[in-house]
Order: sequence, then structure tokens, then C-alpha cells
Amino acid sequence: MALEDYKKKRDFTKSPEPSGDQAHRSPAGKQARFFCVQKHLASHLHYDFRLEHDGVLLSWAVPKGPSLDPTVKRLAMHVEDHPIDYGEFEGVIPSGYGAGIVMLWDKGTWTPETDDVEAALKKGDLKFTLDGYKLKGSWVLVRTRGWQSSRGGSRAGGDGEGKTSWLLIKHKDDWSGPVDIAEFAPLSVKSEGDFADILSQDNPDIWRSNRPAEGGDTGKLFQSIITRALALKEAREGTSHAAAPPKKAAAKKTAPASKAAATKRSRTKRA
Ligand code: MN
Repeated sequence: MALEDYKKKRDFTKSPEPSGDQAHRSPAGKQARFFCVQKHLASHLHYDFRLEHDGVLLSWAVPKGPSLDPTVKRLAMHVEDHPIDYGEFEGVIPSGYGAGIVMLWDKGTWTPETDDVEAALKKGDLKFTLDGYKLKGSWVLVRTRGWQSSRGGSRAGGDGEGKTSWLLIKHKDDWSGPVDIAEFAPLSVKSEGDFADILSQDNPDIWRSNRPAEGGDTGKLFQSIITRALALKEAREGTSHAAAPPKKAAAKKTAPASKAAATKRSRTKRA
């Protein structure tokens, strides 16, 4: 039932995101389990911070991303639990909820500094250690507003009404420092690409008329990413996108594009 909200918000015939139907058992106590951060360019750029707990990924949207500076507290909005297999997801959500580009920005394991994660969540003070590619060492999530209302569909009684705010803070240790890690290490740990690379593996033309964000900085960012993705795809396939036949025909017909098309197909399947 924990994934009720997740499923309600999405149409899996239109989104490549995992449906979350696979049951999963998570380690208990102070054992290491999966964590990831997905950089998500949607209506706004944000970083989705996800910790595996009790068969799902507890999730927080961090607008500015994690900071390695212990004096910097990053706002983390609690959002709906996600399926465990979402943790490997990277790709393009063409339309609907979360429409945009998802990059797997970091992943690894997290270890609670307590035996009772549920109690720590209830209390609003969860201390843990991360062992990712980019994020390491000791961290804390501290709640600044109510919790009960935001976990699980039955208790939420709506979509996102009960969102609670937390702060994600780095503790001072060997892995802290005055480094803007989002800027210093902006690329995917899965494909090693940026947003344009990820979009170019899909169909960069999907947002020609209706972009996930039109105006402001996010609109400009989308525009430049789309332009670069089209150029990347064109360079890879050696065809002009303006003259290219529809996607399916192109993938079947063009010999030089077969490798890229195969990669694309396998990625789509995995996602
Ligand atoms: Mn998101």
C-alpha cells in the first residue's frame, strides 16, 4: 500500500518509469541498504533524494541538491514513496506527472545510525551514513513540519497535500567541505552523460510544441538542452533531424544508426 500515491500519479502506458509491482524486502537495523539521488529537470530542477526502507524508497525532493558544507541546510520536501527499482531509473518522462528528464546523479548504500528507522522518522531526526560515488560520510535529515499526514496514501488522503519539510544537513567529517558538489560533479553515475546526452538517446523532438517548462530559467534550460540533444542525435546518426523519417522507420532503415537504436531500445526496455 505504500506505493499507492506513486501509482495513482502515473500512467504506466505513457511513462517509462517502473510500475512498482515487484515486491522487495529490505535489510533491517543498522545494515547498509540502497540509496540514490536523481537529478530531475521537470517544471523546476531538483534533486530527488531516496533512501531504501522497508521495501520502498523514502523520497525527498531537494530543490538545491545536497551540500557538503555542514553550515548549509538544504530544504528537503518529503514526497511519495517510490518503488525500489526506481533507484536505477534514468531517462525521459515525455508527459504527465514529473514530465522531464531524470538523471541518476548518485547511488550507493546508506546505513542508519539507529536500529529503529521508523522511530527516527516519527521523531523527525534521522542520522545516517552514505557511501555513494559523490556523497559520503555522516548526514542528518531533520523534520521542520508534521510527518503523519505525508506518509502513505491512506493517511495522506490526497496527492501531496500533506508534504512535510525537512532539512538535509552534512555532518562535519572527512567527507564534508566547502564544495558545491552539484556543480563540481554534475553528470550521471549511470551513463556519465548530462541531460542533453540522456535526451538525445530518446526522442529530442517530443517537446517541440509542449515543453515541461516554457518560461523563466527552467524554460531556457530546456530549450538549450533540446537544441543540444538534437545536435547530438544528428551527429550520431549522420542525418538531419529536419529531414529524418518518423522515429520507427528511422530505427529500422538506417544502418549507421542501428547501434544507437539498439542502445536506445535496450534502455527503453530497462526503464
Ligand atoms: Mn522529482
